Amino acid sequence: MPSGDSQHAKGQPGITQAALFGLCPRCGAKGLWAGLGAFAKRCRSCGLEFERHEPRGRGMYLVILPITVLLVLAALKLDDLVQLPVWALIGLWGALVPTVVTIALRCAKATVLLARLEKEGLL
Ligand SMILES: [Zn+2]
Repeated sequence: MPSGDSQHAKGQPGITQAALFGLCPRCGAKGLWAGLGAFAKRCRSCGLEFERHEPRGRGMYLVILPITVLLVLAALKLDDLVQLPVWALIGLWGALVPTVVTIALRCAKATVLLARLEKEGLL
C-alpha cells in the first residue's frame, strides 16, 4: 500500500497535508474540509468528488475510541502528577480534546480518502 510520502514524491499532497491543511489529494488546492471532520462536496479547482468517499458507519470509532481512552489516561496521570485548579483543567482539556480528536479524525479520513482514490485510479 503506498504511503503519503509516495504521493508527495509525485508532487501531490500526502496524507498529512490533506489532513492538516485541507489540500486536495489530486491538485493540491485548498478546500478538502467543509467542517471540522467532514469532507467538502468536491474540489473547487479540479472537481474531484470528496463526499462520495467519506467513511460512513462505525469505522471511525476505531480511531475515536483509542484516542478517547488515551486522553482519559493522560488526564488521570496529569492529575496524579500536578494538582491543577479546576479552571485550568477545564481550559486545558476543553481545548486539547477537540483539537486531538479533530486531528486524529482528519488523518484517518484523509488516509481512507487517498486509499479509495488510488484504488479507483483517480490520483
Ligand atoms: Zn482538486
